[in-house]
Amino acid sequence: MNTNLCKKKVIHVIFCTMHDFHLHLARLPQPEQFARILAGRNYGYVAIACEPWEWEKLREIPYKCAAYGIHPMIAESATEADFARLREILISDPNAQVGEAGLDRRYPGYEPGGVQEAVFRRQAELARELGRDLQIHCVGDYMRIVKVLREVGFKGGPRPVFHRFGGDLSVVRAGIEMGAIFSLHADSFRKKSTAAAIKAIPPESVRFETDADETYCNPGTVPADAPSTETPVIEIAEALIKDLGEVKKLYELAIKGA
Ligand SMILES: [Zn+2]
Repeated sequence: MNTNLCKKKVIHVIFCTMHDFHLHLARLPQPEQFARILAGRNYGYVAIACEPWEWEKLREIPYKCAAYGIHPMIAESATEADFARLREILISDPNAQVGEAGLDRRYPGYEPGGVQEAVFRRQAELARELGRDLQIHCVGDYMRIVKVLREVGFKGGPRPVFHRFGGDLSVVRAGIEMGAIFSLHADSFRKKSTAAAIKAIPPESVRFETDADETYCNPGTVPADAPSTETPVIEIAEALIKDLGEVKKLYELAIKGA
């Protein structure tokens, strides 16, 4: 492979195009219109679907790259049928990633050895088996995530993607060893230890995201039954583009101060 070309491509992705590495397209109002407007603005994204209704909704929308998974907030209610359907969807879409999956101390089953860990491990194994990148959600102990990833054998294959990254330098070091991607959100710059660790991430392993979902816009801004005008959707799409640009600016400022 021509490494110069490859390098150019990476720089292009990071600095020249708008690419939102974590966007809950199916949770936004009028997602079909959103997809159309974002395509017109050359705004790329990974469309995340992290619970069964969201998987089916997303499959009705024209998207370019998707991720399908089971979020820790619903780990307790995940069934064998859900896992079977998840596998089926992933096999039907060879470009799709797995996730978001992970640990979240705000929801039931977070304790070590609990249901969140079991559901995360199964998805990590699925990602390894199918050779797919794994979008990881972590609100809590990153080192428990790292331990599972190591046990499952993430290294030099499909990549762990630390979404809305909030870990410290030890997580960055462990992630680099596994070839991880670190997806940065405006919140990633709030915590001192994370802001400091961001400087240690190789630039080619950095991505940006909005993590926009149904909480992104005020409820009722775009009534579900008002498809006659695209104006409110356009306004929200423009806010999204602006927000992603702000994350990039925060990153540029952070590495300047490195
Ligand atoms: Zn998310």
